[in-house]
Amino acid sequence: MDRTSHLCALARIKLILESLEIQAEDAEMHQIYNLVSNYLDTKCDHHIVTDYIDIGPDSGYTIRFCDVCMRTFSS
Ligand SMILES: [Zn+2]
Repeated sequence: MDRTSHLCALARIKLILESLEIQAEDAEMHQIYNLVSNYLDTKCDHHIVTDYIDIGPDSGYTIRFCDVCMRTFSS
């Protein structure tokens, strides 16, 4: 498995952890989440892509995100 595959797997894990609504007192789960999050932030070389999101017939907005770790970037 290459590095990008590892980062993609961790990005999926991060999304799963976010969907769990971790309890505030569950320190270990927060620790795991922070480890995964920090790993992605520091190890990913960010392959940023731009996408246009339609929200109506005449309107929409542009988003920029990394298609490896799925982090979004403003402007
Ligand atoms: Zn990235």
